[in-house]
Amino acid sequence: IVLSCMLYVCETPSDSVDMSFVPETMCLHRLARMPYLALPTVPHCQVTYIWISPCGKFPKGKTRTLDSEPQSVAGKNSLYTQPQGHGFHSKGFLWITLVPVRMFRDPFTRDPNKLVMCDALDLQGTPAQFHRRSECAKAMEEVKDQKPWFGFEQEFTLMALDQHPFGWRDDPYPTTPGVGEVGLEKIWGRDVSLSHYQACLYAGVKISGITNEGGPAQWEFQIGPCEGIELGDHAWTARYILFRVCEDFGVIPSFHPKLFDHPLWSSDGHMNFSTEAMRSPGGLTRIHAAIERLAQRHMEHVALYGDEHNNRKRMIGGSLSSAFDTFSWRTASRSVSVRIPGHVHSEGRGYLEDRRPPSDCDPYVVCQALVETCLPPPGG
Ligand code: ADP
Ligand code: MN
Ligand code: MN
Ligand code: MN
Ligand code: MN
Repeated sequence: IVLSCMLYVCETPSDSVDMSFVPETMCLHRLARMPYLALPTVPHCQVTYIWISPCGKFPKGKTRTLDSEPQSVAGKNSLYTQPQGHGFHSKGFLWITLVPVRMFRDPFTRDPNKLVMCDALDLQGTPAQFHRRSECAKAMEEVKDQKPWFGFEQEFTLMALDQHPFGWRDDPYPTTPGVGEVGLEKIWGRDVSLSHYQACLYAGVKISGITNEGGPAQWEFQIGPCEGIELGDHAWTARYILFRVCEDFGVIPSFHPKLFDHPLWSSDGHMNFSTEAMRSPGGLTRIHAAIERLAQRHMEHVALYGDEHNNRKRMIGGSLSSAFDTFSWRTASRSVSVRIPGHVHSEGRGYLEDRRPPSDCDPYVVCQALVETCLPPPGG
């Protein structure tokens, strides 16, 4: 317990910090549960089903026991009906059927237990509200010969239980750390981010890295490259795992794209995109062609990517972000809608980075929009 509490102290270097919100009993609970989690439960298997909340912004989860370890998500008896809604208010009037689509290892209770990402249907068998996976999967199926790859950069801020960003509360912006800083006076929540990284790797989520971001307690993890529909499944599962890891540390992740009216503090959800042709020698010309198509449909993309009110505040132009209303692109620039990374320019092939999606975007929606605009059917 002392050790756990010391972890919190180490994470909170500023003297403006009020430690009264440190959930000490929670530290005790994390230790108390350990012998129970170590009990043998085989041949039973705990499967936690993950789906998207009715507002489309949060992952949800629910666990049940299977008689044996499932080998895949296939099979109709894996379907699971679930009341969907907020708390008591929705009791009984909105039911969805969960359709398992991708299986991961459970990093919390460990093998053989599983996390299973699900699509969701309403009782008529059509996609439930804010479940955009099946539409995205259809779009990916149509272009699968081009082998579309995606890489998602998920920015987020760690919040303390008192609604302040983790580790500070007085000044809304006590320091202006840059990306990649080290040092206790600049970095809040590294333990959380590292633990999430480990948990994702164990689970089999294709996490490709983490970065500490410009805001105190602001972080990023990267998912990918993933082919086609895979990206959304891995990104949503990584979000679920982050919420669970944060429970253990007594913090809450916020995916809000504009938590504060500070010009330097926004959270993005950059989506990197390529096809086999773009990745092949001379692929830069294909990347330019895709960017030309994106320029034609800028406002449609921005509308699909997220809430206009927040994103107008996030996309203000200037050195770090692009303008909401106008499309722009450039090599190695952060102030554009679409960036060609410097190394892609010099190698003449690779991928493009769509910098417009906010941190709370639905990756299924962003991936679908990118292939529909950039890879139209022949003659379309
Ligand atoms: P940034 O320089 O914008 O911060 P990051 O390193 O954070 O970039 O993220 C780059 C993302 O691009 C990663 O998610 C990575 O998996 C992804 N990526 C790398 N190569 C490709 C590719 N060929 N196609 C699509 N995504 C890619
Ligand atoms: Mn990044
Ligand atoms: Mn970033
Ligand atoms: Mn950013
Ligand atoms: Mn980026």
